[in-house]
Amino acid sequence: MTSQFFLELVGVFSPQKDKHVKYVPDYLEKNILYISNEFKTVIHSCLCGCGTEVVTPLGESEWNLEEKNKKITMKPSILNGFSCKSHYIIINSIANFV
Ligand SMILES: [Zn+2]
Repeated sequence: MTSQFFLELVGVFSPQKDKHVKYVPDYLEKNILYISNEFKTVIHSCLCGCGTEVVTPLGESEWNLEEKNKKITMKPSILNGFSCKSHYIIINSIANFV
């Protein structure tokens, strides 16, 4: 079983304006972090494949997103406690289940 996922980024760090996400797309592609500047929120489809939409607001008391050399680190870890109980941490665009 693979427990590592490489995540692609769509949104805030893209130089192309049309890639910015304003609203949640109808269909979330797997392994892509959708970032909305406007709502300071990151949305992705749960990495276990269950299809749950995981919303992580960005802010001082919420999640912190760092970009270095086009790699994403998000803190703290993401716990999908409502459905599948998946728990993973994203460091340098790699998600590791914990
Ligand atoms: Zn899941």
